[in-house]
Amino acid sequence: MRPYDFLIVGAGLFGAVFAAEAVKRGKKCLVIDRRPHIGGNCYTEDDGGITVHRYGAHIFHTSDREVWEYVNAYGEFMPYVHCPLANYRGRLYHLPFNMDTFHALWGVVTPEEAKGKVAAQRIPCEQPQNAKERALSLVGRDIYETLIEGYTEKQWGRSADKLPASLIERLPLRFTYDNNYFNDRYQGIPAGGYTPMIERMLKGAEVRLGCDFSADRCALEKLAERVLFTGAIDEYFGYCNGPLEYRSLSFDTKRLPVEDFQGTAVVNYTDRSVPYTRIIEHKHFDGNCSAPGTVITYEYPEAWSLGRERFYPVGDIPNRARYQGYLRLAEERKDVIFGGRLGLYRYLDMDDVVKEALAFARRYLD
Ligand code: FAD
Repeated sequence: MRPYDFLIVGAGLFGAVFAAEAVKRGKKCLVIDRRPHIGGNCYTEDDGGITVHRYGAHIFHTSDREVWEYVNAYGEFMPYVHCPLANYRGRLYHLPFNMDTFHALWGVVTPEEAKGKVAAQRIPCEQPQNAKERALSLVGRDIYETLIEGYTEKQWGRSADKLPASLIERLPLRFTYDNNYFNDRYQGIPAGGYTPMIERMLKGAEVRLGCDFSADRCALEKLAERVLFTGAIDEYFGYCNGPLEYRSLSFDTKRLPVEDFQGTAVVNYTDRSVPYTRIIEHKHFDGNCSAPGTVITYEYPEAWSLGRERFYPVGDIPNRARYQGYLRLAEERKDVIFGGRLGLYRYLDMDDVVKEALAFARRYLD
């Protein structure tokens, strides 16, 4: 008989929701994380009364009532409506693309005028061969060159005509004066940040931080009947099919002795010559924050190589094929479940993570 029912590798949101559900069903869980903190990429920390999103801006948004009620059971959510801006060569534009954006670009006032302008700018293309052709066919030259091209090229480290057309699935255009970035029914940020919320989810499980599964896997595996692995699936299998590729990011966070640096939480920098993609000013995530000074983070996209933090999966055809190989290996293992963004090799928003972790709990715990 092993001391734990579950060893949960990764104290991010996926591991925490699964742990909460397992504990509710009377299971003994050990949760480990190689980082010195819980929360994974949702981790937030207090800096002099300002809640800092250490791994980039995290706004919870969902249209799924079950998910919204679930997260609210672990902490009060403060209302926050995400209205980012884009800065292109010193001029500001509202995102997502809406009447405010079109007014700033062309001086148009009515939806009819804006629709006419977009229609005249579009460059039709039956079968776009790359992201540039696809974007130009959807939104036309001005929006593409001002707000999409430089940002996308910085984000992915390649020119847009070398990026797959599939990267640009949709580019929604709103012909209303509505700057709310998300269309979802519910939106907010937990009071005090995500870390206290995840701490509550982990209550009842044993947590060991600074503990790397890969460094001590034989001993760790013997501790539990079953493993939930939310680390990278290719790392679990010793990269036997080659590494799955990602884009990485680096964050440069500074405390400044000013009350307000940019007047809003997120400003994207869409010109290619600016090396960062956005500046986050954390105190604006909490609309009433009266803490002195401010904390800002510059977000720089970076190439990824083994050993660096994995952020955005490169879901191109070779990587998807490699992932299918790992999936086949995973299906042969009855003692290990793979979950979370790294285990599933998928970009997941937080609400998807909660939804999937609850589905896993129903499948593997009931
Ligand atoms: P993670 O948070 O990555 O947790 C996995 C954990 O496993 C990590 O803590 C890691 O250290 C640990 N681990 C890995 N390998 C090992 C090992 N071998 N041993 C021990 N521990 C290990 N979503 C939204 O809904 N809204 C947003 O606004 C939003 N903004 C984002 C901004 C950025 C810049 C990024 C990159 C993502 C954003 N997301 C957002 C997505 C969100 O971060 C994810 O949905 C969420 O963090 C995924 O949780 P997870 O538990 O699957 O993975």
